[in-house]
Amino acid sequence: MSEMLVVGSIGIDTLHVHNKKHEGVLGGSATYGALAGSLFSKVQLVGVVGQDFPDEVVQKLRDRGVDVQGLEVTTGKTFHWEGRYADDFSSRETLATELNVLADFQPKVPEAYRKTQYVMLGNIMPHLQISVLDQMEGPSFVIADTMNFWIDSKREDLERLLERVHVLVINDEEARQLARVHNLVHAGRVLQKMGPSMVIVKKGEHGALLFDNEELFSAAALPLDHVADPTGAGDSFAGGMLGYLAQTGETNHDALRRAVIYGTVAASFCVEGVGIERLTDVSAKDIDDRFEQVRRLVHFS
Ligand code: AMP
Repeated sequence: MSEMLVVGSIGIDTLHVHNKKHEGVLGGSATYGALAGSLFSKVQLVGVVGQDFPDEVVQKLRDRGVDVQGLEVTTGKTFHWEGRYADDFSSRETLATELNVLADFQPKVPEAYRKTQYVMLGNIMPHLQISVLDQMEGPSFVIADTMNFWIDSKREDLERLLERVHVLVINDEEARQLARVHNLVHAGRVLQKMGPSMVIVKKGEHGALLFDNEELFSAAALPLDHVADPTGAGDSFAGGMLGYLAQTGETNHDALRRAVIYGTVAASFCVEGVGIERLTDVSAKDIDDRFEQVRRLVHFS
């Protein structure tokens, strides 16, 4: 089976969704990315947690086939994020970001991971994403995610990173902010000029746009009748997408389009539960059924 490496945040979230407060929810970009990726391929995880991080959670990751050799446990508290969603999920507000052990994190890629060809640089400080790339032996496919927090505070590092990635995955608001233009098609093209030959602009419940060199592909999101919590949708999208590419070993235009749909499918399961609860009970058949559902949704003759 193929392998992919995931680096990013691993944290404990507090989520405010529909006037309900959920505390102590496992989260972080690497957590969602790894779990979604593990639906398709073997995942190697690089990240850091504090001594307060529950052992059962590490076991849960192992149970999903995630290799945790690159997970560092250090003195201090685990990363914590708190956010509140608008009732229609059209926006979210960050109430707290406590980096804790993430602040001094220096990722060490285990020897056994260095030749891995598929790499997901989940949302984390851009200089840490760069440091992981520096330790790899020429990966063939690198996908990176980021967010407004780092665009505001670490733009220069982010620009250096973009020169070295193949795919940037970013949401619409952040694409506009990073490209400094309002029109999304224009923003996608500006971001491509900053380095990545492929850019995926996620538009939440409105799907995603893939800019692949000169080509443009529009993927619909699955209309769901129940959304419990949108946290992690973006990371699940990236993890699912890369997991599929690693599984097939192809990165041509057609494979990328299918990968975007698999990313959409992974994200659709993620949002049906609070935190990771739904992502961890998805079967291969669930994935295939939903992939077909998307196909039917957009097919016409
Ligand atoms: P998403 O909903 O895909 O943007 O990802 C949500 C996850 O990102 C949450 O579980 C948070 O723990 C994590 N997160 C939030 N802010 C940051 C940040 N500044 N750096 C890294 N991870 C973050």
